[in-house]
Amino acid sequence: MKKQFAVIGLGRFGLSVSSELYKLGHDVLAIDISASKVNEIINDSTHSAVADGTDEKALRELGITNFDHVIVAIGDNLQSSILCTLLLKEMGIESVWAKAQNAHHHKVLDKIGADKIIHPEHDIGNRIAQHLMSDKVIDYIELSNDFSIVEIAAPKTMNKKTLIDLDIRARYGVTILGIKRGKEINISPMADDMVYEDDVLFVIGHKNDLKRFEEDT
Ligand code: ADP
Repeated sequence: MKKQFAVIGLGRFGLSVSSELYKLGHDVLAIDISASKVNEIINDSTHSAVADGTDEKALRELGITNFDHVIVAIGDNLQSSILCTLLLKEMGIESVWAKAQNAHHHKVLDKIGADKIIHPEHDIGNRIAQHLMSDKVIDYIELSNDFSIVEIAAPKTMNKKTLIDLDIRARYGVTILGIKRGKEINISPMADDMVYEDDVLFVIGHKNDLKRFEEDT
């Protein structure tokens, strides 16, 4: 379903969120205080505007209150990011996601009602570290400080064994959410489903258990 998004702040993060949402077929209003940034997104957004995200009147004139989702991607100016997020929540925008620079910024955004706080550099840094740490890990999603989902190549030792043979949940406390074979993905696999050497496994669990699982297998 087509949705309406507004993105305020068109640095590297804001630009890539805006153009990806637009590519996915959504309506995107892209806003930045700098005309040169707005020029970069003209062809990859439905509407674009030069405006100050801390100027309530300007935001109202752009019809921001008609948007269900607004992403505040002002990273370099903490004061503007906070003021903009506060204004949007006061104007009644249902879902405001804001990019935080650091833990203090996160705390303030949380206090003023941001619905989701994003740390792209931290998240990407974590993902890259996971890739570097293990050549088996294909992708990694952090769910909380403790829990993650990893996409991992099935090791040779699992070849032609069923999930029940492998007894992974009991041995490691992690759960196989899905098995990818070529282009097919088997979600919620059954106990008697077989794992083959070239499969990719989606595994959820506590970080310590996932680490043990990666190291042992
Ligand atoms: P990134 O790290 O994603 O590249 P930056 O912090 O470099 O992010 O970029 C933030 C963007 O937000 C810049 O393009 C800047 O012009 C824009 N910006 C800063 N303050 C405001 C504001 N008050 N209103 C709208 N855009 C702003």
